[in-house]
Amino acid sequence: MQQKEGGVATTAEAARRVALRCENVNRWFGGLHALKGPDLAIFQGEIFGLVGPNGSGKTTLVNTVTGFYPPQKGRVLLFDEQINGLPPYRIAQKGVARTFQNVALFRGLTVLDNILVGRHIHMRPSALATLGYWWWAKKEEVAHRAKVEDVIDLLQLEDVRDEPVDVIPLGLQKRVELARALAAEPRLLVLDEPMAGMNQEEKEYMVRFILDAHEDLGLTILMIEHHMDVVTSICHRVAVFNDGVKIAEGAPRETINDPAVVAAYIGASDAA
Ligand code: ADP
Ligand code: MG
Repeated sequence: MQQKEGGVATTAEAARRVALRCENVNRWFGGLHALKGPDLAIFQGEIFGLVGPNGSGKTTLVNTVTGFYPPQKGRVLLFDEQINGLPPYRIAQKGVARTFQNVALFRGLTVLDNILVGRHIHMRPSALATLGYWWWAKKEEVAHRAKVEDVIDLLQLEDVRDEPVDVIPLGLQKRVELARALAAEPRLLVLDEPMAGMNQEEKEYMVRFILDAHEDLGLTILMIEHHMDVVTSICHRVAVFNDGVKIAEGAPRETINDPAVVAAYIGASDAA
């Protein structure tokens, strides 16, 4: 899909807008070369899966896109605008929201308040309020709360909205993280192993909520996922990383059965 013919984009690529483009993205951690220049192009509206053995650089790719660990070489473009080099909160304001491989919620806060945190990138400093424009600040707050209510509705979190996040099961905590990301009204949603640690029933719920969010909100989704049944059932395309390199890309079923991909997984389990 990414091949160029004589420098001109192929018809398929030209016909669709690229939401996220990663070009020759490199990241080192000391002497460890975690990302060795993979290219990616994710089309608007796609659910794109990123798979690969542990330690192959998937989370690092997400961190370069979201600005947590900017690439030291290469470029990241969101709808043709370069975003690498911007701090994470600016990238979030440009429309990239993420969830984390290990749940990262604000312990002690309720489900509702954790989701409200997702709105902070759209909140203006309280200067208006302190200048006396309290009615304007109030109007803004009402709008933020309405958005949060929409997300609570979509992800069916009504029953736990007032619970502290610490006391709800892991599967629900991951759903709250998804809710927080959706509350930011992203253009690109990045999910780092959204089903990790879930039982079968929780997994099925999560798949349904991701599909609902994709359809209702018209999102582009980049999703790291280990469960191949999930990947083959909901991803439009996948890329496979191994040792910081993209070794395959294409339709999910064909790609994960590619001999080079099978060999990479076997190699990884031998090494473990
Ligand atoms: P994956 O998500 O595919 O399992 P990661 O992107 O987390 O892999 O890691 C890729 C490599 O980079 C691993 O060898 C990992 O130990 C290393 N790595 C990731 N983040 C850091 C970090 N913050 N500091 C040092 N090494 C890191
Ligand atoms: Mg990871």
